[in-house]
Amino acid sequence: MNKNREHTTQMSNDHDSGLFELYDLKVEVIFGDIPMVCDHQEGEYFHVIGEKIIFPEEGRKSFPMYPLAALLPLLPAKQRLTDKNDWMTTDAIVACSDPNCGGRFRITRIAKRIFSHAETTIVPLPAVD
Ligand SMILES: [Zn+2]
Repeated sequence: MNKNREHTTQMSNDHDSGLFELYDLKVEVIFGDIPMVCDHQEGEYFHVIGEKIIFPEEGRKSFPMYPLAALLPLLPAKQRLTDKNDWMTTDAIVACSDPNCGGRFRITRIAKRIFSHAETTIVPLPAVD
C-alpha cells in the first residue's frame, strides 16, 4: 500500500469523492516544571505528515522511544478533524512518560492535507444508496 501520496487539488464537499483531510502536526519538546532527564532537549521537534514521522534536516535524527511511545496513540487523533468542544481539539501538551522527567511535548496542528481513500487502503468504500 502506498499511503502517502498527496493531493494538491481542492477538496470537494462531496463526501463521495474518496478524499479526506488530516492535519500535519509538529511535535516540539518544551520545558516542564522539573528538569528533563531523558535524551530530548527543549526545542527539538519532528513533524507528522500522513503516516510518517519526519525529523528536520538540521536536527538530530533520533528521539527516545519511551516518550515516543506515550505520544504515538495521540498523534492519529490529533491529525483528524475534531469537534471544537472536544478536549482533543484544545489540549496540546503531553507529559513525558518518565514521571521523573520534566519534558513536555506540544502537539501543534500546522495545516490540513488532503489524502485519497483509495491510495491509503485497499479496503473499498461502502456502496452509496
Ligand atoms: Zn522525558
